[in-house]
Amino acid sequence: MWQTNAVVMRAGEETMLIDSPYFPDELEALPGLLAGAGFEPDALVATHADYDHLLGRLAFPELALGMGEPSVERLHREPGAAQRELRDKDAELYVERPRPLALGHVQALPVPGSIELGSEELELHPAEGHTPDGMAVMARWCGVLCAGDYLSNVEIPMVEAGLGDYRATLARLAPLVEAAETVVPGHGGPHTRDVALRILDEDADYLDVLERGDEKPKLPAGRDTREQRKINAENLQRLHRR
Ligand SMILES: [Zn+2]
Repeated sequence: MWQTNAVVMRAGEETMLIDSPYFPDELEALPGLLAGAGFEPDALVATHADYDHLLGRLAFPELALGMGEPSVERLHREPGAAQRELRDKDAELYVERPRPLALGHVQALPVPGSIELGSEELELHPAEGHTPDGMAVMARWCGVLCAGDYLSNVEIPMVEAGLGDYRATLARLAPLVEAAETVVPGHGGPHTRDVALRILDEDADYLDVLERGDEKPKLPAGRDTREQRKINAENLQRLHRR
């Protein structure tokens, strides 16, 4: 759904799953697929607390889920919200699950900060603006940036927190993208550095258009769809009702 991505990374003897697929058949296939490839996860991480990123424990119920401190705070502020939203979306899509989502004990990770993965280090960078929480995960040793719900080729910026926060996140992501070989957004295809830099520019331009309150802006090429116009209308509603 929504071209949602999960990324699995291995360094030395340790493997981590970042974010999650959505559909039950994908989640059911995941452990076998990853084990067959020698990428059996020891840990789960989510880039932010939106329900479509939290489903790793449906595939690996024995593993703990790690999230940035702001995401853990958000879960505590909105108890049960992720489970409720997942149930609603499942009902809309006629999706049935073998068991409900239980997040278990969520482990808070330092953002900004870093965590160890085997012999290497994963950098955790704050990424707010889409939501009030969020982090980007940079694996510098292999040139991969997991951007969370930013830099998508299929979705315009969905600004649920502040415009200022969103702009600050794009500015923070720019040097990370420069240092990356592959950028994986939460939704859509993985990008080369150059494509990600182009999207970053388009998104910064879109934020300017959004700030001006333009009702019918030209959306970036490939993202000028009815669904994205709906997201634009929701952004306008959120940002200009004050
Ligand atoms: Zn998402």
